[in-house]
Amino acid sequence: MGISSPARLNIQTWRSQWKNRQCSILQRRLRIGPPPEASSVLTQPPLSLPDSDANTARALSGRAIIDYYLHMQFFAHQPLPDLGPYVGLRGEIRAFLAEERQRAGIDQWVGSWEGHDRDFSARLAERGWVGMALPTAYGGHDKGILERYVVFEELLAGGAPVAAHWIADRQSGPLILRFGTEAQRQHFLPRIASTEYTFAIGMSEPDSGSDLAAARTKAEWRGNGWRINGAKIWTSNAHRADWMITLCRTGDVGEDRHGGLSQFLIDLKAPDIKIRPIQNLAGDHHFNEVVFEDHNIAADRIIGSPGDGWRQVMNELAFERSAPDRYLSTFRLIVELVRAAGATPDHAIAGEVGALYARLVGVRMLSMQVAAALDQGKTPNTEAALVKEIGTALEQDTPEVARRVLSETPDGARDGLLEELLTYDTLHTPSFTLRGGAREIVRGIIARGIGLR
Ligand SMILES: Cc1cc2nc3c(=O)[nH]c(=O)nc-3n(C[C@H](O)[C@H](O)[C@H](O)COP(=O)(O)OP(=O)(O)OC[C@H]3O[C@@H](n4cnc5c(N)ncnc54)[C@H](O)[C@@H]3O)c2cc1C
Repeated sequence: MGISSPARLNIQTWRSQWKNRQCSILQRRLRIGPPPEASSVLTQPPLSLPDSDANTARALSGRAIIDYYLHMQFFAHQPLPDLGPYVGLRGEIRAFLAEERQRAGIDQWVGSWEGHDRDFSARLAERGWVGMALPTAYGGHDKGILERYVVFEELLAGGAPVAAHWIADRQSGPLILRFGTEAQRQHFLPRIASTEYTFAIGMSEPDSGSDLAAARTKAEWRGNGWRINGAKIWTSNAHRADWMITLCRTGDVGEDRHGGLSQFLIDLKAPDIKIRPIQNLAGDHHFNEVVFEDHNIAADRIIGSPGDGWRQVMNELAFERSAPDRYLSTFRLIVELVRAAGATPDHAIAGEVGALYARLVGVRMLSMQVAAALDQGKTPNTEAALVKEIGTALEQDTPEVARRVLSETPDGARDGLLEELLTYDTLHTPSFTLRGGAREIVRGIIARGIGLR
């Protein structure tokens, strides 16, 4: 049964009053200022979207700006960082990627996070674009967050195959730098920066994904080393990686459930470790189950102190979750969609594509603010979680919008690349809000951050 117009109007009025009230309560609680001017939202064309297309899309729709504003209310705003000094760097990376595509004999890459190519990663490292955050004393490049942000953006926007080095670069290296022994730093960090060593993440278990504290993989002290028994699951690229930082139970749970956990460096090439493939929805082998049966490791493979694993793993997740790039998985599809819509799309298509584009620009501006805050040594966990939440929502909506738009566009607008991107993104959509922490968990972090829990 439909709702009559006056009733609908009442519901809408009530909703907007409620939202305004919530926003002002939260704004007072957070002591944040009003969001920036709407016009500033659209001032920076993102990444490599051609200017003519950017202009078309920019003129299309402002509907999504409303969503953007609602999220902006909860954001501790700060001036956008000046990425101007890195224009030259962007050019260098784009030229490098063009060369790499030529070398690979392809016009474009489709998957990025899942594209695994050790040789590509090694050549990227030769240019100094891996281990950028690590100190030069350990083979790194001592670069700031903003410079890395530009590199991340260009690689993901270009669809480059980053999976081989991404995890070590983003979280394993920084974790070893912060909690490892001097000997571990000297051994592992230069090999991470050169991509000689690649890493996997050993957190999730069959009965412990979101609830990491329930981890049951056990490490027992045997007098001169540790014996590991248990299983990890959903381990990305364990079949290709050299090492895995693995969360294990080494003692009693303790009162707050977070005690008795420790992290270990596990050599994945050890012959007694079983790595079983798990096919993902697209039919690809990306995930694995990693099984340990009386696997012995040396005493010096523990990271940090026994029992300190929870604090460490939360730090590792913070490196993973604060990466301000969680909105670019479907960027290439948006670009191709803008192209397919053409310079003079009809009103409905203009609205759909324009809304998508406006969301992209909005999320990018929030993401840049997270990068700026990190650059200033702040820990913007709530803001980073917000970017992940609305960034992954954008990623998940993109294939849906693309399908609607393409059903209205002439067949000629659908070229092979567009079809390929649409298929790839559709099949990978469910993973966008799971990896790096499921949506409900991220929303819980946001709720806590803004004082609702
Ligand atoms: C592409 C991809 C790559 C991954 N790579 C790795 C990897 O390399 N290493 C690794 O260790 N893991 C990896 N994961 C696993 C990922 O981190 C977990 O899938 C995720 O943490 C969720 O755990 P789970 O699958 O056990 O689901 P569960 O924790 O069982 O959750 C199932 C559902 O219940 C909800 N839920 C759970 N707890 C709560 C709660 N307290 N309140 C409200 N809702 C809740 C969740 O949000 C989710 O929707 C990867 C996942 C994906 C999709």
